[in-house]
Amino acid sequence: MSDVINHYRTCNLCEAMCGIEIRVQDDQILSIRGDSDDPFSKGHICPKATALKDVYEDKNRLKRPVKKTADGWQEIGWEEAFDEVANKIKAIQAAHGQDSMGIYLGNPNVHNTGSMLVGPVFNKALKTKNLFSATSVDQLPHHVASRHMFGHYFLIPVPDVDRTDFFLVMGANPMVSNGSLMTAGGISRRMKAIQKRGGKVVVIDPRYTETAKMADEHHFVRPGSDVLLLLAMVNTILKEGLTPMGVLVNQIAGLEKLDSLVAPWTPQRVAEHTGMSADAIIQLAWDFASAPTAVAYGRIGLSVQEYGGLCQWLINVLNIITGNLDWAGGAMFPTPAIDMHQPFRKGKYGRYKSRVRGAEESFGELPVSVMAEEILEPGDGQIKGMVTVAGNPILSTPNSNKLDKAFSGLDFYVAIDIYINETTRHADIILPPTTGLETEHYDVVFHGLAVQNSSKYSPALFPPDEEDDRKHDWEIYRALASRLRPDGGNQNGADEPSLKQMLDQGLRNGPYGQDGVSLQHLIDNPHGVDLGPLQTGGQQLWQTESGLIEIAPDFLTADLARVEQNFSASAKPAEMTLIGRRDLRSNNSWMHNSERLIKGKNRCVALINPEDAAARSISEGQMITVQSRVGEIKLPAAVSAEMMKGVISIPHGWGHDLEGVQLDIASKSPGENFNELADDYLLDDLTGNAVLNGIPVVVEV
Ligand code: SF4
Repeated sequence: MSDVINHYRTCNLCEAMCGIEIRVQDDQILSIRGDSDDPFSKGHICPKATALKDVYEDKNRLKRPVKKTADGWQEIGWEEAFDEVANKIKAIQAAHGQDSMGIYLGNPNVHNTGSMLVGPVFNKALKTKNLFSATSVDQLPHHVASRHMFGHYFLIPVPDVDRTDFFLVMGANPMVSNGSLMTAGGISRRMKAIQKRGGKVVVIDPRYTETAKMADEHHFVRPGSDVLLLLAMVNTILKEGLTPMGVLVNQIAGLEKLDSLVAPWTPQRVAEHTGMSADAIIQLAWDFASAPTAVAYGRIGLSVQEYGGLCQWLINVLNIITGNLDWAGGAMFPTPAIDMHQPFRKGKYGRYKSRVRGAEESFGELPVSVMAEEILEPGDGQIKGMVTVAGNPILSTPNSNKLDKAFSGLDFYVAIDIYINETTRHADIILPPTTGLETEHYDVVFHGLAVQNSSKYSPALFPPDEEDDRKHDWEIYRALASRLRPDGGNQNGADEPSLKQMLDQGLRNGPYGQDGVSLQHLIDNPHGVDLGPLQTGGQQLWQTESGLIEIAPDFLTADLARVEQNFSASAKPAEMTLIGRRDLRSNNSWMHNSERLIKGKNRCVALINPEDAAARSISEGQMITVQSRVGEIKLPAAVSAEMMKGVISIPHGWGHDLEGVQLDIASKSPGENFNELADDYLLDDLTGNAVLNGIPVVVEV
């Protein structure tokens, strides 16, 4: 028996970037625990980290390419698979045009170094405008607000939670998510520290969430009405002159315009729509503005609703007018060791529209809500073939039934994925990359969204050897891209730099390169390197044409007309609206295949307020029907005063019992699919983001 070794790496299952220590002997994982020497997460982990072992050992996981045949799935060789995929793509594009191939990129791509550094090579080789991703069911409003206010779509401010005195959390549940667009390993410790130093945590949410339970204050708000609450808070702060903007005052353009835009939105006017009293809104505005430092943070509940773009604009406005942007204890901009803010990548938008609905492109992508119709609707430019990369859109994007029908009728579909799941069961060929512990890892994205500057490289723990006949995702991208080149190249990208070379170059050219931060430096420091607290960047940060923060850009503020129209005095809210939910042991849908993460009582239940339940004669555990414009599901009710009256909550990522799925979870605890209810025609018109919170539904026994 060989010696036990300790392997240190970053868990890449979610955004929190927790450092983990894995004890290994003879290729067997003995334990996974938090790495207390990791300078960023300081020992924190959640129960999901142990799923890294489960994914590595999962017998459902594919390891070599498979092809669908009349006799079922058959393993084929890599070269044969690459040739067949490239030939099929070329044939479809030759017959129907470049855009007849579509591509969908799932959420795990942003957690994969290979996908972030080399994936774009394949996307470019595909040369299609029909590029979709999880961005438009998640965070597109943040990018749009940042692009128009700060000049770069990745200049996304994150809460400086470690120094703030007042943390306003809207539509987010960091006690469960562990932070999102706020990478903060150990967020519960960080939030409790706010309270310990005399500060305050306030939660605004239609559910009394796990975060609300630890907070000092919680207010229910009606789904989709946060925009009104934010407008009224800004209105109050400006009217009362609570605007200590400090050094920011000389960096802002558009303040007068802002004043007139928010003037009609008084707390008294919005109170009934939001479900919060005018007095409570005014008090909240005063508390926020008068705290020594404060930060407003709005996440998924604000982004995936009808006014996601306006909500993220107003979150930024709130931080700016109270002097809490780019300032310690407020909303700050990380300085990652690999620079993400190059001026040549500010983010282009509006260059083309989707064929069927005319939805606008943002940053090279079309809204994922239009993907099904682009496949189904005949005519020039129809999508005939698809590629999905680490994605399961049939479970994770709106109107699942329509998308299921669309994928079942494709001429050709190739999935780069490790599972035969609800979406990839429709594929003709599946190319499974190495994953998790078999690959080297550097968080290219999330160091740039972290509440503290740090840098860490994780070598592969179980790198495949020659005999394994395995491929990394970046090898797959290059093999396909080289075959798609017009010259018919077939070099599998052999001359291209390795990931290590790319990372090293990025680090040496980054802001700490001159201080010695290189790949070798990170290899020599396996727990990671602390690069200090977030820093004030000042005016050199802003990449707008004016060189200033645009606090009221026309692109965003024009959408206020829609708010005015929809919230007119006569507008009547739906009797019941649906919101999503997630729990600590769930993230992406494929994690449900880990036994230890799904065991226990059924979590796929509909939370409903006692009064709403009584009005419909619904009792605890009873099967209920939830119906929207596009679908209907049946699932058990859980009657709970956690829910605001008029709001029902169902978790996402479930619904595994579809024919052809080859996951153990499909027969054990499949749950029901939230996205059968999500309406593909319900979008935030401003950004194109899907609406997953605030969906009108009918609830019956
Ligand atoms: S919080 Fe996220 S990064 Fe940390 S251990 Fe859990 S899944 Fe991994």
